[in-house]
Amino acid sequence: MADRAPESLEEKIEERLRYYEDLGIRLFYRDRTPAAATSFVPTASTVAPTPAPEENSLPKSIAKPLPPKAAAVAATPRIAPVVAPSGPSLFESVDKIKDDTLPRIREDIGDCTRCKLHKGRNKIVFGDGSPKAELVFIGEGPGADEDQQGIPFVGRAGKLLTQMIEAMGLQRRDVYIGNVVKCRPPENRAPEPDEVATCSPYLLRQIDVIRPKVIVCLGAVAAKTLLETTRGISQFRGQWLEWRGHKLMATYHPAYLLRNPNAKGEVWKDLQKVMAELGLQPPKKSKSS
Ligand code: SF4
Repeated sequence: MADRAPESLEEKIEERLRYYEDLGIRLFYRDRTPAAATSFVPTASTVAPTPAPEENSLPKSIAKPLPPKAAAVAATPRIAPVVAPSGPSLFESVDKIKDDTLPRIREDIGDCTRCKLHKGRNKIVFGDGSPKAELVFIGEGPGADEDQQGIPFVGRAGKLLTQMIEAMGLQRRDVYIGNVVKCRPPENRAPEPDEVATCSPYLLRQIDVIRPKVIVCLGAVAAKTLLETTRGISQFRGQWLEWRGHKLMATYHPAYLLRNPNAKGEVWKDLQKVMAELGLQPPKKSKSS
């Protein structure tokens, strides 16, 4: 009979399986690079080769940034139109509200019952971070942990997002994080069009108040919702797009990266473009590491 794993390890495995179940993932296979699945640390096996990276201050295990010249090329905005919506635009009709503030928006939402998602939620997940952030991340909707805590991206995917933010040389408090809908869809399904239409004007108001330089859409739902397109995210991921006067970049959702660690290299490239746009440097490597 095979030896049992230590109890503490069993608990960790159980916790992780529960987490994946929360994400709607019920099919598992053996991953021979388990470490890669839990951290935003593109390793040699997860990063596509980059041309002659120069010595830099990144921790050894984090992908090195492109050399300055290449980075400058990568940073050149490529504002490409995404297919225009066939019907009236959901967002263009939303006017900016004079003297709007985040607390006022939260107050307007109240104990919202405007769409059916209110029925299963514990907490409204309004958004989190700096009201003056230059960088805003948008996901699709709260999961189980977020629904419990009322804070976006606090589960395992959230931890990975935090690592991504820190790899960019920022802290979570420096950016703003929100979702297309503020209440957890049942079974973590994608929000439905009527839910998006009802809830997203609040997100728009939040973005209008924050006025970020760059918006990063995490995953297909956020990207397709904001851009009002049916095109697959792989067709425009990593490209600079324009959205309501903001520069927008779509990249993969951290939950996708948990399942597909090999995509971390692509996301890191996208984030490097964002860093170049915002003039960010990756954090210095500490001498002890
Ligand atoms: S998802 Fe948005 S519109 Fe729907 S109930 Fe929650 S806060 Fe209200």
